[in-house]
Amino acid sequence: MRDLTLLPKAHLHLHFTGSMRVATLAELAAEQRVRLPSVLLDDDPLRVPAGERGWFRFQRLYDAARACVRAEAHMRRIVAEAAADDAAEGSGRLEIQVDPTSYAPFVGGLTPALEIVLDEARAAQATTGVEIGVVVAASRMRHPLDARTLARLAVRHAGDGPGEVVGFGLSNDERRGTTAEFAGAFAIARRAGLLSVPHGGELLGPAHVEEVLDHLHPDRLGHGVRCGEDPRVLDRVVERDVPLEVCPASNVSLGVYAGPADVPLRALVDAGARLALGADDPLLFRSRLVDQYRIAREEHGFTDAGLADLARASITASAASPGTRARLLAGVDAWLATEPVAV
Ligand SMILES: [Zn+2]
Repeated sequence: MRDLTLLPKAHLHLHFTGSMRVATLAELAAEQRVRLPSVLLDDDPLRVPAGERGWFRFQRLYDAARACVRAEAHMRRIVAEAAADDAAEGSGRLEIQVDPTSYAPFVGGLTPALEIVLDEARAAQATTGVEIGVVVAASRMRHPLDARTLARLAVRHAGDGPGEVVGFGLSNDERRGTTAEFAGAFAIARRAGLLSVPHGGELLGPAHVEEVLDHLHPDRLGHGVRCGEDPRVLDRVVERDVPLEVCPASNVSLGVYAGPADVPLRALVDAGARLALGADDPLLFRSRLVDQYRIAREEHGFTDAGLADLARASITASAASPGTRARLLAGVDAWLATEPVAV
């Protein structure tokens, strides 16, 4: 067995607020005298009986955490710590999603809110060596016109360089909003060369994946883990070679699957889908990037060669620069060439 923290990988599904360290949230709350639901600072806020897991509990806790982020310094700290934590877990490329809407009122508007994240991403890349691209994510809970506004903002900062926007996403409760109504926003983003990386196929099944495929033309799917419930839809995903950002711990915490062994990692890989494992919201799921690879190893029997393939898939599914991509892929080969150690 080889050390999974040393396996080079790319992290393509991580949300800004959800990336926060528990200790940081506790400090921000204390500083601002905000009373958080105590469960948020406990061991595992979503470790509850399967019937009680679910989106609404998650959403309530997420909103409480987000309410503690009220200043430029807080935002910078979140980005810097996300990059440092990713570096410690062997990630060489991080694509972090942010919806600047909630922070805009505290920092003078949407543009400054995004620019703070981008500027800190640039700085964090220099400090940690993790190449960072930012994904601007609109919310399904808001009006599609708001999504267009965010798409135009994302386009103004589009680029492949450090601290630039690489993609446009759509997050929040999949069951809300009409997917087709967000097509306009995605068209704006795509015309400027941004990747289309919407969520789909976690809370809802294959029919929703198809809607996302048809209307938002994803370059990658956030989750997409349930597409295999209809072999025809899985075929479409494989044929179009749309990588899936699969987040096993998230799936379990949100009650999509009863346990980590039930996440269909093996079936998706065997069908030819490209998977990029991600942590989604480690603040709430108490499970970080390496933990997802550990689930693949311990619950699904992936060998080190199989885990190396998962890491390669995450790297090739990313928008990493050619240099970073080559360096990380060579690193995966080197990892596999090391002697396994007894753990
Ligand atoms: Zn997500």
